[in-house]
Amino acid sequence: MTIQLIEHGIAHSDTAHFGDAQESPVAFAGTAAGGRNEGETSGDHNARTLYQHGTLALLVPGLFDGTLSMGELLTHGDTGIGTGEGLDGEIIILHGTPYQVRHDGGVVVAPDSFMLPFANAHWADFSPLGDLEDRSKAELSDLLLKTTGLDNTFFAVTVTGTFKNMHTRACAKQRRPYPSLEHTAQQQRVFDAESTEGTLLAYYSPQVFNGVAVGGFHMHYLADDHTIGGHALDFRVDKVRVAVQRFDTLQEHLPVANPRYLEHDFSSDDITGAIASAES
Ligand SMILES: [Zn+2]
Repeated sequence: MTIQLIEHGIAHSDTAHFGDAQESPVAFAGTAAGGRNEGETSGDHNARTLYQHGTLALLVPGLFDGTLSMGELLTHGDTGIGTGEGLDGEIIILHGTPYQVRHDGGVVVAPDSFMLPFANAHWADFSPLGDLEDRSKAELSDLLLKTTGLDNTFFAVTVTGTFKNMHTRACAKQRRPYPSLEHTAQQQRVFDAESTEGTLLAYYSPQVFNGVAVGGFHMHYLADDHTIGGHALDFRVDKVRVAVQRFDTLQEHLPVANPRYLEHDFSSDDITGAIASAES
């Protein structure tokens, strides 16, 4: 399994243009060099599990109640993305620190009491994939799938380095009664940076899970100097280092203590249509 993936990486490295792909193709943590097994990190942390609270689908009709605290989310990982109650900004968790990119563009550390309707988290155990220069967002996405061969499972990606034409958005906190996801789009703020250095954190979900999560890539960004961040709508990779972490398990946690969630009838919601327009 692992060997095949490595060969796959080598076989496609000429088209992939990952700078050092020849020397270090995809070797998922712990499998190539022996020692610990893949995903077995320190303590009880399972790095092969992606934890998710809520679903993308519940955001579509406006179920924006905060149903999980940041403190609880951080017991499931040191890396992640999400949004706050009422779609209060964009969350990116890096090295155990949960940053909130607010609607006004400010970046703050979210307290443990910060509530979220939707979030992903996992324990970081990334494997280097290679270096990359001068690629569009679409080219990066294609390359990631070609090089890793992970179309049919969940994985996380970190892209660190310099970017051009970074274009992000942050939602504005909505008040009850919440509007639908589509109606919040008019109140999101967008941010642009011609040149920026930072970390892009992406989660890939197979298309069959579209609705549970965002089918395809869901990307959040934070500049090292915190001058720009949020949900990454578009960008061009300038000079970056790419690392990947494969999951074999999705732990899906649902807000069963929330009556609005339990009572909602999802049958008439245009889940995939709304996600496509809101997340791209
Ligand atoms: Zn997002």
